[in-house]
Amino acid sequence: MTGPGAPAALSDSFGRVARTLRVSLTDRCTLRCRYCLPAEGVAWLPTDEVLTDDEVVRLVRIAVERLGVRRVRLTGGEPLLRRGLEEIVGRIAGMRTAEGARPRVALTTNGVSLARKADALVDAGLDRVNVSLDTLDRERYAALTRRDRLPDVLAGLAAARRAGLTPIKVNTVLMRGINDDEAVPLLRWAVAEGYRLRFIEQMPLGPADEWDRAQLVTAQEILDRLAAEVELVPVPASQRGSAPAEMWRVAGTDAEVGVIASVSRPFCGACDRVRLTAEGHVRHCLFAATETDLRTPMRAGADDDELVRLWVAAVAGKPASGIGDGLHVPPDRLMSAIGG
Ligand code: SAM
Repeated sequence: MTGPGAPAALSDSFGRVARTLRVSLTDRCTLRCRYCLPAEGVAWLPTDEVLTDDEVVRLVRIAVERLGVRRVRLTGGEPLLRRGLEEIVGRIAGMRTAEGARPRVALTTNGVSLARKADALVDAGLDRVNVSLDTLDRERYAALTRRDRLPDVLAGLAAARRAGLTPIKVNTVLMRGINDDEAVPLLRWAVAEGYRLRFIEQMPLGPADEWDRAQLVTAQEILDRLAAEVELVPVPASQRGSAPAEMWRVAGTDAEVGVIASVSRPFCGACDRVRLTAEGHVRHCLFAATETDLRTPMRAGADDDELVRLWVAAVAGKPASGIGDGLHVPPDRLMSAIGG
């Protein structure tokens, strides 16, 4: 039902319903992680092509109030670069779903400037934060991200913990010969600090020459390395829901560790996500071959009903699988532009 004012759902022909909206607030980033961005020469979006704060809030409001979205994750690029982030968070936290519930608001960040902003973000209504961190070695960090910012990230994590954004998830991509020897040290560190570590398999989304299936550090390999030194107890799949991580509890502690097998065991069947790019395009999948432009009709005066109709149609055509069938084509955009 997508008639005027009526609630609709973002459902596809495989019975999945999108409840989580990931919004890219900018394609720009403070870092240049090798597997995500080239060192230089990225054609950033011109400012006038990026959604304004009011446009972001309008589209998120439509998703929450009209389209059944319950969780909103702000990402990028680096969302902490977005001026007015706190205000956007506050405006989203003030929305209500059709059932009257407050949407959960989360942030995925590299953490570089989190120390300065954690308190204000919590005050604005932020519920959760995921921080991306691939190594605890300062030199490696600088080589991997092409910026010497590890101390800032660690300070950002500590500030987020003090601000009460727990449990804080730390997302790590392991790469062969670069940081794959850090699986166990990273886990021991996360357990000691009270962070929830999640390893994510490297996906073919960054610069083309940075991904090689044969070199992939798979979820199984990561688990084998962890299990060789740490006793892990599986968390039942029934507690996994649509979350992509397979979870283990570290025996003798309250700590959990997750492994996201995006490439070797993709979880497309349980996917409940839809994405909005920084310039206002709907993507039903990271690997989608098509996008639906909402910005152009919005700026041409489309009303909410028309935007609902376009959004519903964009998700209805979502294929069964985006990656993993061996047939996926890497998207013609970098992860930073799609919104990771
Ligand atoms: N700048 C923010 C951050 O660092 O978390 C948000 C955007 S970033 C694109 C989101 C996540 O995508 C990060 O955890 C990053 O490690 C991950 N990522 C980027 N490229 C990836 C790739 N090719 N494979 C797997 N994860 C990737």
